Amino acid sequence: MVKNIAVIRGDGIGPEIVEQALKVLNKVAKAYGHTFNYTDVDMGGCAVDKYGDPLPEAELKKCVESDSVLLGAVGGNKWNDVPGYMRPEKGLLRLRAGMGVYSNNRPAKIWKQLADASPLKKSIVDKGINFIIVRELIGGIYFGEHKTEEVDGKPTAIDILTYNEEEIERIGRIGFETARKRNKKLCSVEKSNVLDSSRLWKKVMHKLADEYPDVELSDMLVDNCAMQIVKNPSQFDVVVTENMFGDILSDEASMITGSIGMIPSSSLGATTCGLYEPIHGSAPDIAGRDLANPIGTILSAAMMLRYSFDLDEEADAIENAVSAYLDAGYRTADIMSDGMTQVGCEKCGDLVTENLRKV
Ligand code: NAD
Repeated sequence: MVKNIAVIRGDGIGPEIVEQALKVLNKVAKAYGHTFNYTDVDMGGCAVDKYGDPLPEAELKKCVESDSVLLGAVGGNKWNDVPGYMRPEKGLLRLRAGMGVYSNNRPAKIWKQLADASPLKKSIVDKGINFIIVRELIGGIYFGEHKTEEVDGKPTAIDILTYNEEEIERIGRIGFETARKRNKKLCSVEKSNVLDSSRLWKKVMHKLADEYPDVELSDMLVDNCAMQIVKNPSQFDVVVTENMFGDILSDEASMITGSIGMIPSSSLGATTCGLYEPIHGSAPDIAGRDLANPIGTILSAAMMLRYSFDLDEEADAIENAVSAYLDAGYRTADIMSDGMTQVGCEKCGDLVTENLRKV
């Protein structure tokens, strides 16, 4: 298989962690006989320095024309005082809009080797935590009208929450398709006891369920879901929800796994061209010191293989290599504990690459 991957190294630890993910991808290509061509894309603070623009049109074009995009992270203190339109994070928003990605997918997985890092009780963690939150990304209350005006003589704030059937259906499909690739259990999260948008959400999900008879659909109110994520997270396989609920629940879910450096994410739209990135930022406090944990980025590359290129075996091979690296007792500084061997970012990339075996 030949695939063209746009690579955004970005700022801070971005270049260091992306480099490790590319090493792993190169090993996959060699082991399985694929060709991955990489096109470098400037985005974020480095693009502000070079072009005075965090994502020039020509750079966005490279992403849109690729088969998928791998991103490290952007931003840093150096660009704190640039005008709003020039902020590195603006590049990220434009990239998401330009690629038309409307679904953000974040796994919450506890690696058995890192169970102690979770703030949850051991008895809960021991049951296993491994689920994905599929969050609608470009609709709902964040994209509705926001205004503050005088009503009955009092300053009154108004935020409008709108979802149409089509917007719900397209994110619902991503939820069902993701569940199909996993344990075939989809939990649709809403607030249908109060909100009309949630009642439509629920109706559309149940209509879609007829097309996915192999996937078991359940419904859960968002307040209950927030409780269940800490009380009994092992019950979940895939959770699909709207923008604001997903924003809050996905942060809660990433916290219970204990380490920000280990978590990948994907953003997908109508095509298979997705955006893959770790959930953390550019960590300027440790940039350039070989301290960063590259595993979130390496696992983002695995998600790219699974969800954009349909290469499940190759994705499994990367995840197994990460597991073997942890089994051997290696840890970067952020997840270091007694009795383990501390390694830097580069060594971590080398060890995961060495551990990669054809499944
Ligand atoms: P951050 O995620 O960069 O860092 C938070 C803390 O986690 C820091 O102590 C950092 O050292 C640590 N950390 C993060 N990733 C790590 C890794 N891979 N290995 C080891 N430790 C890691 O969040 P922040 O400090 O709030 O933001 C820093 C910059 O990143 C800001 O400019 C922010 O706007 C930007 N940011 C970018 C993205 C993105 O590119 N998608 C996302 C979030 C924040």
